[in-house]
Amino acid sequence: MKLSRCLLIVAAVLAGILPAVAGQAFDHLVTALLGDTPLISDLRDLTDTVGGRPTGSEANRRAVSWALARFEAAGVTARQESFTMPALWLERSAAAVISGKDVKFPAAVAAMPFSAGTPPAGATAQLMDGGTGEAADFTRLGERARGAFVLVETSELRDIEGLFAEYGHAAQVEARAFAAGVKGVIYMGSRPRGTLYRHNASLGEANEALMLVMSRMEAGRALRLLRGGHELHVTVTLDINSGPAYEAFNVVGEIAGSSSPEEFVVIGAHLDSWGLGTGALDNGCNVALVLDLARQMKRLGIRPRRTIRFALFNGEEQGLHGSWGYAQTHADELDHHVMASSYDIGSGRITGFFTGGRPEIAAAVEQALSPVQGLGPFSQIDVPIVGTDNYDFMMEGIGNLVGNHEPASYGPNYHAATDTFDKVDQRQLRLNAAIAAAVTLGFAEMDATWSRQSREQVQALIDSTDLGDQMKVFGLWEGWKSGRRGRR
Ligand SMILES: [Zn+2]
Repeated sequence: MKLSRCLLIVAAVLAGILPAVAGQAFDHLVTALLGDTPLISDLRDLTDTVGGRPTGSEANRRAVSWALARFEAAGVTARQESFTMPALWLERSAAAVISGKDVKFPAAVAAMPFSAGTPPAGATAQLMDGGTGEAADFTRLGERARGAFVLVETSELRDIEGLFAEYGHAAQVEARAFAAGVKGVIYMGSRPRGTLYRHNASLGEANEALMLVMSRMEAGRALRLLRGGHELHVTVTLDINSGPAYEAFNVVGEIAGSSSPEEFVVIGAHLDSWGLGTGALDNGCNVALVLDLARQMKRLGIRPRRTIRFALFNGEEQGLHGSWGYAQTHADELDHHVMASSYDIGSGRITGFFTGGRPEIAAAVEQALSPVQGLGPFSQIDVPIVGTDNYDFMMEGIGNLVGNHEPASYGPNYHAATDTFDKVDQRQLRLNAAIAAAVTLGFAEMDATWSRQSREQVQALIDSTDLGDQMKVFGLWEGWKSGRRGRR
């Protein structure tokens, strides 16, 4: 089927009879995506069977084989592409016991990524009330912070804005805590009840301190005791599997373009997860979406003008390493990458895209979304954002998109033990697949084009936005400054 006609039919379907579409066999892509495809069973398989899959783990290697097999079953050409992870870090177990005069209780904890480990008998130190980790809190603690565990109060996380705020705040807290010479930082969990999660510490793999998240309930109890005048100690026992650099793999499927196969449009989602939950919202749902789009395009014989790459990146959670690896592997082709999109904010309705501070890309997205206006409203946010696999494309000067979603259940379950299959909005995930199809095919077909930005242009973007601050929060600033990572 010729694409333009296909999208016209899609427009008609979505404008008029969307609620009636389910179960009916319409011979075109979006109707196929809205139908009874393996999208949901893929997601169930990846989350319930393969499970949580931090890069470097056995489950992660199974996930790579699983993804290759899914592409193969769909008849889509796919390969695994090697890249280097800078260090192995996996938590085997984590425990804490809080004690003082007449009080002693265990507290559920999780190690933050790249936390140091402890001796088998644990590390014991005084537990101090770190307030909310502001400069004034560390001034109040003064020398007493040295060699102590500092417990930092947090507010409950509700949405993606709160998440970015949490990352930004943590970087400041950690800078103050390390300057004060603490033994470790313990964050009160920002999720309800006792839900545990992992957040990247600001120093990434360069971190040398003990970094933990403690169940909100038990951290709250400890803070009440401290504020009531109790003196407390905490014994932390972290068994960490750490090691040197190692090889990991992205899985990249491809449908070759019909008339401009040397030009590329990338749709990406990351295959890895943190290991506490099973990585359903982050990011199994969008892995399943990317796979299903490839599968249905192949099945219907849809070949747009440009080549589409369906990239399942690995190593995302530990520092966006897989997409960086992709940029290195495909360095010779980057001049011909028209657009790279990432979907990584769960299964809430796609409300538009972060378009990276490039008005020409924002306009092209508007055009690409027109066949699916019935699934809107959409609005683009034309700012650069750091935190997922668009990063290296952005720093290489390539047009990049990040799907923006309604918060739905993403925030409370982010990187948490509760991020499981049942949290995914299955109906909306299918509708999101239709939206992603329109954008991917739109960019693969449209005449509009733009050139790759130079290093100077990327630097101008940094200088005119808060991009540099975001890079510092994620520990990515030095790589750019030194020329090790990003456009040369
Ligand atoms: Zn993610």
